[in-house]
Amino acid sequence: MKATPESVVSFHYALAVDGELLENSREREQPLEVLLGQGQLVPGMEKALEGREAGQAFSIDLEPEQAYGQRREDAIQRLSKKVFGKGARLVAGANVTLRRKDGGVLQGSIHKVGMTTVDVDLNHPLAGKTLHFDIEVIEVRESTEEERAHGHAHGPGGHAH
Ligand code: ZN
Repeated sequence: MKATPESVVSFHYALAVDGELLENSREREQPLEVLLGQGQLVPGMEKALEGREAGQAFSIDLEPEQAYGQRREDAIQRLSKKVFGKGARLVAGANVTLRRKDGGVLQGSIHKVGMTTVDVDLNHPLAGKTLHFDIEVIEVRESTEEERAHGHAHGPGGHAH
């Protein structure tokens, strides 16, 4: 069958950015299995998988608008060093997790370290990048009612979470 916006698609992918291989799903045992239409994939990838069938292999290049968006300068926030715990590694490029007042968490990376402040970049690491994907579709199937209700694919053993 061809993938529809409600199909479950299993696929292997390799992701390269600026000619550098960042991820290869074949290093894991299982292909990625995703219920389409739930925003679990970047928009360009959702679109590219629609209408595909098992066995198809193809490559796509996704502009930032179809991937993680453009970098935003206002996503760099200046915070007091006190915000970070004593053991925190405060060096440019290090990844940090910030806890919001409402209990949510934000992932970021350290942009710059000052005397008393730290500038944290909350942009997605791949914001502003064009993503190159090599994709091989392994399986396409209808989603079950339960999967659609949960908004995600369930593995071969059924409910696995
Ligand atoms: Zn579920």
